[in-house]
Amino acid sequence: MSPNIYLQNGELVIILIKGEKHAMKKKKSYFLSLRWILLATYVAIGIVPLLLIASTILHSVQDYFIEERKKDLLSQANVISGQITSYDYMANKDNRDSLEETMLEMSQRHDFRVLVLDSSCLVMYDTGYSDVGKTVLIPEVIEALENKDIARVQEDGMVYAAVSIYGRNNTRVGVVLVSDDLTDISNTVSNIAKKGNLLLAGLAIIVIIMMVIMSQIFTEPIKKMIKVIQKMSEGHFEQRVQMQSQIHNEVVDLALACNQMADQLEKVESTRQQFVSNVSHELKTPLSSIKVLSESILLQEDVPKEMYVEFLHDINSEVDRMAAIINDLLTLVKLDQKEIPLNFRETELGDVVEGIIKRLLPLAQVKDIQVNYVKEKDVTAMVDEMKLTLAVANLVDNAIKYTPKNGKVEVNLDGDHQNAFISVSDTGIGIPDDEVGRIFERFYRVDKTRDRETGGTGLGLSITHSTIMMHNGSIKVHSKEEEGTTILVRIPIRQNS
Ligand code: ADP
Repeated sequence: MSPNIYLQNGELVIILIKGEKHAMKKKKSYFLSLRWILLATYVAIGIVPLLLIASTILHSVQDYFIEERKKDLLSQANVISGQITSYDYMANKDNRDSLEETMLEMSQRHDFRVLVLDSSCLVMYDTGYSDVGKTVLIPEVIEALENKDIARVQEDGMVYAAVSIYGRNNTRVGVVLVSDDLTDISNTVSNIAKKGNLLLAGLAIIVIIMMVIMSQIFTEPIKKMIKVIQKMSEGHFEQRVQMQSQIHNEVVDLALACNQMADQLEKVESTRQQFVSNVSHELKTPLSSIKVLSESILLQEDVPKEMYVEFLHDINSEVDRMAAIINDLLTLVKLDQKEIPLNFRETELGDVVEGIIKRLLPLAQVKDIQVNYVKEKDVTAMVDEMKLTLAVANLVDNAIKYTPKNGKVEVNLDGDHQNAFISVSDTGIGIPDDEVGRIFERFYRVDKTRDRETGGTGLGLSITHSTIMMHNGSIKVHSKEEEGTTILVRIPIRQNS
């Protein structure tokens, strides 16, 4: 939420834009939530094809039964037609009864109706009796007389099989028409459909329950993550997504990544708070000294001139100390913000190291410290000369600062075809094992009281570390208390930009 600030006649008016969060919430449609989309997708993929397959199978079964019935009726009609021909039923009236009995018996056994028609489509015999003497002009009969035997389902739901009857001289003399309704097939198919529907409903219920559970499994961690992220955006960095699921998938990975991000944010936040409190503390100490010193002069009467000078001298060195802290802080902030991009140039590192030693030699001479410089070979590397000089100078400065009188400091320059190596060793006080890992932290000092004497700010090694990291290099420390310290810096000779 960003406040809009207006100045009206010198008055500060701050208008907070509220309700962005609510606006966000309003837009969210329940049925467009990931959970419902997943559910709808599962239903579309899982149930719709199931219904389509079931209906296709049902139609195929029905078609199969009908085709079988057509074939059956045709073959029965053929049998009857053959018998009519052999009995000479159409011409010989005396010989009809026994065949009619056979036809009646067949029709009752198979539950179909048989009609015998002559060539003018007049019904000569009907197992249903009712149509004898009538003319039947249905397309199947006409086709059978003219062309070929046929079986067909009519719109009234009846199957008609018509087979022509041949006379003695091989001419078509009539038609046998066998008809049957399809109620039994419809009943069978609807029975199958009922059972299938029950099965489908059961399956659908199981599928839907599984889908609800699955979508729950997938969306639950996401919902938790949203809550956690919302809480974090309000500044509660201690929030974590609780994962009970044993299943490992991308959503779980996302939740774990979210937790890692929260860890990192919490760390950054605590470092930031620590840093701010360190800065305040570091600046407060010299400020308090200045206050005490200045007050003691102000409150005393007839202060001798020597005391003035001494106190002002102390005040001056406290001011120097504050200036040093602020300078180092500014350098660090700039490095952090990458405000000034590194100005990489081919640089002869031997010259850089030599320059640093020359500049710091007077400090070493004050303490009778012997400084050796060993250049194993000429090393040229792509570096930002100014920043690298500052980084290495911090190391040499520390080596001199933390080495007692008459000690030794050695700076070594070496390189291979990929890297340059600069090491700074001293015979100084060393660093305790459990503190070696912390010396690159901002404001970290091993012995705070002694450091005030040496004038250290606790920021030098942080600056060195950031600079070496920006050069894509590395920095290692070997140290033994009371024996000395060696810091080894590696910098790639070429930088891939
Ligand atoms: P400072 O400005 O206090 O020197 P640095 O960041 O440069 O801060 O160093 C952090 C701390 O690491 C120092 O206060 C000191 O205790 C320790 N240290 C650094 N270099 C050495 C060294 N060569 N020998 C012993 N201790 C060292």
